[in-house]
Amino acid sequence: MRVLVTGAAGFLGSHLVDRFLAAGHRVLGMDNQLTGNPANLAHVAQHPNFEFHRQDVTTFIEVEGALDGVLHFASPASPVDYLELPIQTLKVGALGTHKALGLAMAKQARFLLASTSEVYGDPLVHPQPESYWGNVSPVGPRGVYDEAKRFAEALTMAYHRYHKLDTRIVRIFNTYGPRMRPNDGRVVSNFIVQALRGEPLTVYGDGSQTRSFCYVDDLIEGIMRLFERGGADPTNIGNPHEFTVRQLAERVLALTGSKSKIVERPLPVDDPRVRQPDITRARKTLGWEPKVSLEEGLRRTIAYFQAIVAHEGARKT
Ligand code: UDP
Repeated sequence: MRVLVTGAAGFLGSHLVDRFLAAGHRVLGMDNQLTGNPANLAHVAQHPNFEFHRQDVTTFIEVEGALDGVLHFASPASPVDYLELPIQTLKVGALGTHKALGLAMAKQARFLLASTSEVYGDPLVHPQPESYWGNVSPVGPRGVYDEAKRFAEALTMAYHRYHKLDTRIVRIFNTYGPRMRPNDGRVVSNFIVQALRGEPLTVYGDGSQTRSFCYVDDLIEGIMRLFERGGADPTNIGNPHEFTVRQLAERVLALTGSKSKIVERPLPVDDPRVRQPDITRARKTLGWEPKVSLEEGLRRTIAYFQAIVAHEGARKT
C-alpha cells in the first residue's frame, strides 16, 4: 500500500508513519509544521519508503501517483494550541478535511479521520458511547476544535453516503507517550516536565475532573485495526481506566521521585468534568482493547522526557 498521513510530524501522525513503514508500506507524510515537530520524523527521513511534503492541507493537495489510504491527522490538538490558533484549528478541521476527502475520492483511497472525544464536549452521559451526541458549546473557546471535528465527521459521513467513499472515523480519547512536545500544554506532558524540572505541578481547578489516559502504542494499534477492518461508524479508541487529574499528579510525583509541590490554577473555560470512553464497539468489531497500564505508560513517557530535560540542562550550563 501507499498511504498519505496528514499531520505526519505530530505526536500521533509520526507514530502512525512508523507503524505503516514497519508493516512494509510506502508513506507520504504531510505537515505544515505549525504544531508538528520535524524531529519526530528525523529517524525516517532517509527511509526508502518514506517521503515528506511540507504543506498546509487547507489548500488544494496535489499528490502524484496512486494512494490506497488517506489518514487525516493534521490539527492543533492541545487546548492551549487551539486557543492560540483558533482560525487555523477551524480551517484544518473543515477545509483540510474537505481537501483530504477530495484527494481520497480522486485516488479511490480509503479515508480515515482522526476525530476526538471532544465531540462529546462536557458529557452528560458517562462513560461515553459512540451513540451519545454530546454537549458542546459552539461559541465557547473550545468550540473551535470541537465544532471543527464535528463538522469533519459530518463531512466524512456525507462523502461516505453520497460518494460511497470507504471511510473510517476514530474518536481519540486522551493519549500520551513519547514525542509529545515538552511545551504541549496537555496534562501528562505538563506534569512530567514540571516534575523533572522541580517546578510545581499545575492542577487546574481542584483536580477532581477526570480523564482516561491511553498509551500511544495501544491507540495506534486500535487505529491500524480500524483502518484495516473497521466500519464507517465512528469508533471510540481510548483507555477506559479513569483517574482524577489530582491522582495523575500524585502518580507522576511518585514515579519521578520529584519533590515538586502541587499548586492549583484556574480551570479553563468549558473544561469537561469527566471523560471515559465506552469501548464496547472497538472490543466487538476490532477485538481491540488497551494493554499498557498507566504506570507502565508513564514510565516510558518519563524516560523520553528525562532525555529532553537533561539536554536542556546541558545547554544551560
Ligand atoms: N490540566 C491540568 N494541568 C495542566 C494541564 C491540564 O490540571 O497543566 C487539566 C485540564 O484542565 C483538564 C485535564 O487536565 O481537566 C486534561 O487536560 P488536557 O489539556 O491534557 O486535555 P483535554 O482532555 O482537556 O483535552
